[in-house]
Amino acid sequence: MTLFDPSILRLPFYEERHHALAADLEAWVERHRQLPHEHRALDVEEKGRVYTRLLGEAGWLRHAVEADSGRQRPDVRSLCLIREALAFLDDLLDFAFSIQGLAAAPLAWYGSPEQRACVIPAMREGRSIGALALSESESGSNLAALKSQAVREGAGYVLDGTKTWISNGPIADHHAVLARTGEGPGGLGLSFLWVPASTSGLRTERIDLLAPRAFSSLHFSQCLLPATALIGEPGKGFIYATEILDLYRVSVGAAALGFCRRAMRCATDWSRQRNVAGSKLIQTQFTIEKLSGMSLHLDTTALLVARAAWEFDTGVRDVAAHASMAKLHATDGASRVVDDVVQLFGAAGLVADSEPEQLFRQIRALRIYEGTSEIQKMIIAGAVSRPPSR
Ligand SMILES: Cc1cc2nc3c(=O)[nH]c(=O)nc-3n(C[C@H](O)[C@H](O)[C@H](O)COP(=O)(O)OP(=O)(O)OC[C@H]3O[C@@H](n4cnc5c(N)ncnc54)[C@H](O)[C@@H]3O)c2cc1C
Repeated sequence: MTLFDPSILRLPFYEERHHALAADLEAWVERHRQLPHEHRALDVEEKGRVYTRLLGEAGWLRHAVEADSGRQRPDVRSLCLIREALAFLDDLLDFAFSIQGLAAAPLAWYGSPEQRACVIPAMREGRSIGALALSESESGSNLAALKSQAVREGAGYVLDGTKTWISNGPIADHHAVLARTGEGPGGLGLSFLWVPASTSGLRTERIDLLAPRAFSSLHFSQCLLPATALIGEPGKGFIYATEILDLYRVSVGAAALGFCRRAMRCATDWSRQRNVAGSKLIQTQFTIEKLSGMSLHLDTTALLVARAAWEFDTGVRDVAAHASMAKLHATDGASRVVDDVVQLFGAAGLVADSEPEQLFRQIRALRIYEGTSEIQKMIIAGAVSRPPSR
């Protein structure tokens, strides 16, 4: 099986260690081909726990959850290769991997040595699960408007408010929560707090999604937290959240690429064997047009992802627009690719739990989370309309 495109990996964006990682990932995916079927009977929350543990044991989480040198960032090209491979295999594997990385980032990048020692080793091994709680019902795209409040009281904080759309919310052992701490207006007055799931006054309310996963709102009512719950500097939470989301944004493009590779394989397998009007479906002009469009989308996405990931890793300034281009192009185009697969299957592509039907449900969220397509367009337009720097 060839998962990655060797002609992309050979480009100067990638180094020897990425070639080795890609080979390891291909071998792992090949060995675990039956994983989605083997765990079919598990509910999504149990699957989240099992998959997180498996990713820890396989060593993939080490690439997302940095070990011991504070403020060190993950290698984005590695993150992208891993997400491409996991999304190719199973939506929930990619979900478990990316959410663990996102949830660990506030502590791994900005936490104190004591906080890091307490949480990071177990997260790297998949023994402890995290969640990143930013969004609220009135502030998803606009985090600066969030209302959850952590008020200083005595030697600690009292946290009140509701977070929603929280991945891993029902199964997380702890949450990195962005809350208003009042150092300034809007985005200037937010901080990250580390909140164990066992905290008194925290209630989880499950949410069912189109493509099911461990997902919930978190209600905080008079939650008492020690002063040591504060992650990093007070008032810096908005900057931290932006840095984390910027870095992970390009990896969403890589995940979309993995879904598209699965879709492409599904489309070619099906149209090679399906008979229509005396020939194979793959020989018709309509199918040629669809397959060539899919193939073009795979290549353009892989190139945009590789460029943005390489720019992050090599310290190029102002990569936000390139990361947004990668995410926007990858995720908008992936919806078209998957829609074409459903069309090639006809009614068979709409049968519950068929591969096209699963892909159709799984791909939709990528245009919404970590910045909607419209927000990506605003970032790109902002960059092109800025006067050139000298
Ligand atoms: C599967 C999934 C997992 C998620 N996981 C997490 C998680 O783990 N933690 C977390 O904190 N959040 C999570 N989210 C929430 C996600 O980050 C938000 O859904 C996203 O930021 C969009 O916010 P919203 O849903 O409130 O939509 P809104 O921000 O209300 O947007 C609604 C519409 O308005 C448009 N819009 C918004 N602002 C503007 C503007 N200024 N100009 C023009 N149009 C605009 C948007 O593009 C969109 O079309 C998750 C969401 C999904 C779907």
